[in-house]
Amino acid sequence: MRKKFVYVASLPHSGSTLLNLLLGQHPEMIGVGGIDAVMRWIERDPDEVAAQACSCGEQVGRCLYWKEVLDEARAHPPQNIVERYRVALDVFARVFGPNVLAVDAGQIHETLAELVSEPELDPHVLFLARDFRSAIVSIVDLKLRKKALRRPRIFLALEAALRWRRENRRIADALRKTGLPCRQLGYEELCLRLRASFARVCDFLEIAPFEPTREVHAGCNHSFVGNDMRKQASQTRVSYDYRWMTRSDWWLPALVVPGMLRLNRAWVYANGEDEIFRTREA
Ligand SMILES: [Zn+2]
Repeated sequence: MRKKFVYVASLPHSGSTLLNLLLGQHPEMIGVGGIDAVMRWIERDPDEVAAQACSCGEQVGRCLYWKEVLDEARAHPPQNIVERYRVALDVFARVFGPNVLAVDAGQIHETLAELVSEPELDPHVLFLARDFRSAIVSIVDLKLRKKALRRPRIFLALEAALRWRRENRRIADALRKTGLPCRQLGYEELCLRLRASFARVCDFLEIAPFEPTREVHAGCNHSFVGNDMRKQASQTRVSYDYRWMTRSDWWLPALVVPGMLRLNRAWVYANGEDEIFRTREA
């Protein structure tokens, strides 16, 4: 039988960790972070992986899911990406049963093309994109905080804009070429229209409808890698960062980088929710 699972394709800092945590609220989904990244890490240093803290509260070496994966990967080391997924998903089905979907939020969209060539695997892709205005402000602040970069912030903003356009385009192109089942999701609608976003995801995955809560950690989750994991760990309720609305960092990129506003509408507001900033969720 083909192994169906959820694959979140997104850029770093676009909410994939949050989505991974939120989807775990659904009884038919469990977030496991990034499968490919973890499996590669296990190949390099299984002891180091075993010592990590899993989001379930256990050490990875004692986690009810990842411990089994570690044992399996040690006994039969996977040789390529398809085998890495096979091990992770076989163990997943054994531990959680065949009717629960693994949510893989790895952000490594290079893997998409390889996954599609394997008839045994059945990834259902959620293409998660964040409004470029919000993404730019967040990246500029992050870079300024990390190290005292001498470059003017407008360069940082332009760099972030070009990267946003290039990387999201790569995901969109990969999805078009592979023809994988895919649903677009905006980070903004996820935060500000959580119930509607969740309903779309359930509909796309053909699973029972579910009413999510705004409690980030209410779901079942076993993950320990992810760019914004640490930041998310301190966040307990879904909230939106409105910083970009009072900032001008994104103005110039919006004017000089061709296609930004059009692509923003196409990728982030594909579900026609660009009025979300005008009204509050009921
Ligand atoms: Zn765990």
